[in-house]
Order: sequence, then structure tokens, then C-alpha cells
Amino acid sequence: MSMVRPKKHLGQHFLKDKNIARKITACLSDRFPVVCEIGPGTGILTQSLLEKENIRQLTLIEIDTESVTYLHQHFSDERLQILETDFLKSDLPALFPENFSLIGNFPYNISSQIFFKILENRNRIPEVVGMIQKEVAERIAAKPGNKTYGILSVLLQSWYDIEYCFTVNETVFFPPPKVKSAVIRLQRNKTEKLNCNETLFFKVVKAAFGQRRKTLRNALKALFGGSPVTHPLFDQRAEQLDVSDFVTLTNLYEAALAENKSRI
Ligand code: SAH
Repeated sequence: MSMVRPKKHLGQHFLKDKNIARKITACLSDRFPVVCEIGPGTGILTQSLLEKENIRQLTLIEIDTESVTYLHQHFSDERLQILETDFLKSDLPALFPENFSLIGNFPYNISSQIFFKILENRNRIPEVVGMIQKEVAERIAAKPGNKTYGILSVLLQSWYDIEYCFTVNETVFFPPPKVKSAVIRLQRNKTEKLNCNETLFFKVVKAAFGQRRKTLRNALKALFGGSPVTHPLFDQRAEQLDVSDFVTLTNLYEAALAENKSRI
């Protein structure tokens, strides 16, 4: 068992069950030899990852000094690189000159930020296996028309195929979290570029869900200014739209911006 005293502010809930650790690492396909693990803690997933022969480089990113010391004391494998740093602040393109897959029992308090960082680096991260809060996993995997469908569902589904792998009980952690957990897998889809301006796409998706109960006509009023909002999509609410609908909306927004500019 771990000798590291769990720190709440770092979202530390250590997995106790080796079989679950194996089940999680088994979700990673064997296609990518470079793997990054977020928040290894005392290394239960690390141990199981090192059993995988296809892995040529395993980089651990851990913010907690005590855990890093523990890892240095308990693991020595030439494929392993241990970095004591904040994942959110790390320069991924500099650390990983080639594609890599990402895995971890994520610190739940920053899981959304981790996914936004994955989106920024989507062309370098072909695969992600993450254990996160069950509700967040359901939200990310949700399809249009579902109450839990939201910003991260649309953005992640634009570039990744998402699978809800399995649910994990709170009893397999120390200390047990207050919520249930789940493992999801993201695999990069074939989309290289959306058929719209991607910066504006993020802006439209965020604004649309910012007021998710309103029709898009009202939710996007501030963005569209005085421009006409007659397209039938404006009669719907954000949660009813799929990725291609948001692409359509973004192109309407870009046209509205151009038109407003020409009026000034
Ligand atoms: N993988 C381990 C620990 C999971 S708990 C296990 O399954 O037992 C989450 C881990 O993420 C903790 O070790 C915590 O210290 C680490 N962590 C929290 N915030 C982090 C950040 N910003 N960057 C890197 N690691 C972080």
C-alpha cells in the first residue's frame, strides 16, 4: 500500500485494485509506443503500463513532490521518464516530438482543463484513456438530444470517437471519492479540419451552451448583433445540435461578422 499521505487539494485518490489497473491499461491500444501518464501518484497504473511490451517510452507527469520521490524509489526502468511538473502548464509539443497516447486516473478537480489541453494538442494525441468522474464521462460521451450533452461533448466529439468503457466503484480507491468513476477512451477520428473557422467554432459552441435553455436565436444574440437569424437552426437549443450543425452556425457567424464589418 502507498506510503504517500493523500492530499485532497491535488485530487489524490489512489487506486488500490491491481485488477482494475490492468483493466484500465488494457483499454489502451498497442498502436502507440510513446505514452504519457498524468498523475501517476504511487504508480499502480505505471506498474501495469510497464508490463506492456509495445511501450518504448513512458513519461510520467506528476505535480506532487512526495509522489515523485516515491516513484523514484520504487521504479527503475529505462523506458521511464519522471517529470515533476503541472500537466496543465507543461509544454507538450516540446516534451513529445512525436505522437503519444495519454492515460491516467485524472485528478478530478482539473479533468475539464485536461480535456481542453488535449483539444489544443489533438494532432499529437491519437488516443486517450482516462478515469474521471462518472458524470463527466457520461457528459463527454453524450449524444445530441441528451440533457448532459455540452461544450466538451461537442468539442471532443469533433475530433475524437468516444467510448464509455466501464464504471468504477468508489470502494477501490484510498481514500474513496464521493462520486463514482468511469473510464473512457478517446480515439482521434479522421477529421483534420472542420469546414469552418475553428476559433469561431469554439466561441459559438461556448456561447450556445452558456445559455443552454434558450433557443439559439436568443443564446447567440450577442454574437450575431443585428444580423438576421432566420436559419431554422436558430429555433433549436444548443443540446439538439450535432457537430455539423455547429459548423453551419459558425459559418453563419463568420458571414455575419464580415457583413457587420462592411457596414461600419
Ligand atoms: N494514478 C494514481 C493517482 C491518481 S490521483 C492512482 O491511480 O492511484 C491523481 C494524481 O494526479 C495524484 O497523484 C496527484 O498528485 C496528481 N495531480 C494532481 N494535479 C496534477 C497536475 N496539475 N499535474 C500533474 N499531476 C497532478
